[in-house]
Amino acid sequence: MMIGMVLCRACDREVHESAHSCPHCRALRAHGERGKNKIVAGLLALFLGGFGIHRFYLGQWWGVFYLLLAWTFIPSLLAFIEAIVFFLTNDTKWEQKYGAKTMMAS
Ligand SMILES: [Zn+2]
Repeated sequence: MMIGMVLCRACDREVHESAHSCPHCRALRAHGERGKNKIVAGLLALFLGGFGIHRFYLGQWWGVFYLLLAWTFIPSLLAFIEAIVFFLTNDTKWEQKYGAKTMMAS
């Protein structure tokens, strides 16, 4: 897979990340919605993970539990492990989970 290419949700073919719609099946990519960056999420988890900042970045509201338990250092430990998991997740899997959503054609 080339750099800057993402997979179309509708037809699974490669589309440039700046494209507004898929040239293969014409499915529109949602406007203004960008996929979450794995490296950014990993770095947030590493440095601010104890406060759940990486969870908020990924749009997961339950990051608030990290914030509430920040004083126990458990979230920091969790976030450290999560940072490693984020970095080790392959790009395709990451895209499926946190990538930009594409409007389905049907
Ligand atoms: Zn497509």
